Amino acid sequence: MYDVVIVGGGMAGMSCALRLQAKGFSTLVLEAHGQLGGCAGFFTKQGFSFDVGATTLVDFQENGIGGLFCAEVGLELPGGEYIDYVAWLPDRQVTLYHDQRKWVRERAEKLGDSDAHRAFWKLSDKVSSVFWKASRKGIVLPFTSLADIIRAVKCIGVSNLYLARYLNKTMLDVLKELKLENDLPLRGLLAMLIEDTLHTTIEEAPFINAALGITIRGSGLMRPVGGMRGYFNYIEAHYKKIGGTVKKGHTVTVLQQREQWEITTSKATFAARKAVVTLPLENLYAIVSPSVQVKLDRYRTPGIDLYGGAIVVFLGVPEENVATHAICHHQLLIDYDRPLGNGNNMFISISAAGDHASAPPGFRAVMLSTHCSIAPWIDLPDAEYHEKKAAIASVLIDHATRVYPSLMLHHRILEVGTPVTYQKYTRRYLGAVGGHKLNRKNANLHAIPHDIGVKHLLLAGDATWPGLGTVASVMVSKIVSDRLYRTLMR
Ligand SMILES: Cc1cc2nc3c(=O)[nH]c(=O)nc-3n(C[C@H](O)[C@H](O)[C@H](O)COP(=O)(O)OP(=O)(O)OC[C@H]3O[C@@H](n4cnc5c(N)ncnc54)[C@H](O)[C@@H]3O)c2cc1C
Repeated sequence: MYDVVIVGGGMAGMSCALRLQAKGFSTLVLEAHGQLGGCAGFFTKQGFSFDVGATTLVDFQENGIGGLFCAEVGLELPGGEYIDYVAWLPDRQVTLYHDQRKWVRERAEKLGDSDAHRAFWKLSDKVSSVFWKASRKGIVLPFTSLADIIRAVKCIGVSNLYLARYLNKTMLDVLKELKLENDLPLRGLLAMLIEDTLHTTIEEAPFINAALGITIRGSGLMRPVGGMRGYFNYIEAHYKKIGGTVKKGHTVTVLQQREQWEITTSKATFAARKAVVTLPLENLYAIVSPSVQVKLDRYRTPGIDLYGGAIVVFLGVPEENVATHAICHHQLLIDYDRPLGNGNNMFISISAAGDHASAPPGFRAVMLSTHCSIAPWIDLPDAEYHEKKAAIASVLIDHATRVYPSLMLHHRILEVGTPVTYQKYTRRYLGAVGGHKLNRKNANLHAIPHDIGVKHLLLAGDATWPGLGTVASVMVSKIVSDRLYRTLMR
C-alpha cells in the first residue's frame, strides 16, 4: 500500500508527488496518457518535440515559486532561457520585458505616461508585488480555518491589508476609476494578458488576480531546454531516483474509500492511505461514489460557457524562416473591437536556437495558439470538424506570417490541436483547459478548496487555483503536500 496516490501526472500531480516523495512518503502517480505532462505536455514527431499547451515555466528562479519547489525536492533549477515577449497590437508593438526597469520604460513610452497611467501601473505593481510575495510565502486560498487567515495576514503583511478592498473590484472598475477605460492600446494589451492567464475578460477579471496575470512575465517565464518534454523527463528521472512510482497508461476509473483508498484503473487496482486528485472537477465527479459527489456539488460549474478551450498549430520549419527576430515569443492582437480568442489574439512560441532537443539541427519547433469557445467544437460530424480545424489553423498561420513572412516556406510539419484533441489526450471535461473562467464569485476566497471535506482526499491542479497555469499548479502542490505531511505525521 502506498502512503499517497496521485491521480494525474500533469504539472500539479508531478509537483505534489515529488514534494511528498522527497519528504519520505511512498507515492504513486497514475497517469492515463502514455506520457506525463497533461496540458503542459508534449508530443514528438520526426525529431521535433512540441509543447501541447504551456510552453513556459513561471518563476523558476531562486526563491521563486518554481525555485523553492526545486530546492524542496532536491533538484537543480532546470536549464532554459528567460524570455521577453513582443505584443503586436493593431497600431503598435510593445515589448513585455522580463527586466522590470526595461518594462517600466517601455510601457511609459509605448502606452502613455500621463498621471492616470502612472497611477494605474503604480497600483498594479504594488498589488502584484504584494501578492506574488504572498504566493511565494505559501498563502492558502480559500481560507478553510483560522490558521489559514493568520497565515494570509503574515504572507500579505499587516501594512498591505488595505489592498484586500480590491478583492471586490474588477480590472474594468480600476480602469474606470482612473478614466482609462477608453484607452484602446492599454485596454487591448491588458485584455489580452488577462484572457491568456485568467481566461476571462477585463469586465469580469478580479483586479488582484488580473494584476498577477499581467505581471507574470516579470516573475520570469522560461522555456526549458527541450521544451516541456525536457522538463518532464528531468523531473520524472528525479522522482524515480528518490523512489517514486509512475504508472502511465493507467486511466483511473473508480476511486473508492474503504479502510483506505482503493483505486481502480484500466489495468489494475491499487491501495493508498491518502489520495490527491488533480483532475478537473467534472472528471473527478465521474469516478467517485455518491457520498463524495455530494461534497462536490456546490463547486461544480457544468455550464459550457464557464470554460475555455484552446487551438494550437504545431509547425516544424527551417531555421531561416524564423531568424528575423531576436525575440522568439510574440503575442498578437488583431482587432481592438472584436472579442478575444478564436484567433483575434494569439501566441507564437518558438524553440530556442540551438535547442536540438526541440528541433533537429537547421529547424525550429513553432507553436501558434489561441483560446477558443468550446461549444462550437462539440459533437461535430467528421467532415465539418476537419473543415473547421483547417479554417482556424489557416487564420492563425495568416496572422503569424505578419511577424514571420516566410514562416511556411518548406515547412516540414503542420499539425493542429483543438478542444477535441485536448479531450482525447488529457481527458479533460469538454476538452476545456486552464480551469474555469475567473470572476469575483469563483476566485480567491470563493475558489474551490483543496479540502472538500472528504477524509484523506485533497484536490490540486488548475481547478483549485485557476488562472496562472503551471505556476498555480506548483503553488497548489505546496499547499496540498504540506497539509498531507501534517496528517501523515500524526
Ligand atoms: C494552449 C495552452 C497554452 C498554455 N500556456 C501556458 C503557459 O505558457 N504558461 C503556463 O503557466 N500555463 C499555460 N497553460 C496552462 C497550463 O498548461 C495548465 O494550467 C496546467 O498544465 C494544468 O496542469 P494540471 O496538472 O492542473 O492539469 P492537467 O495538465 O490536465 O493534468 C491532469 C493529468 O491527469 C491525466 N488524467 C485525466 N484523467 C485521468 C484519469 N481518469 N486517470 C488518470 N489520469 C488522468 C491527464 O492525462 C493529465 O496528464 C496553457 C494551457 C494551454 C492549453
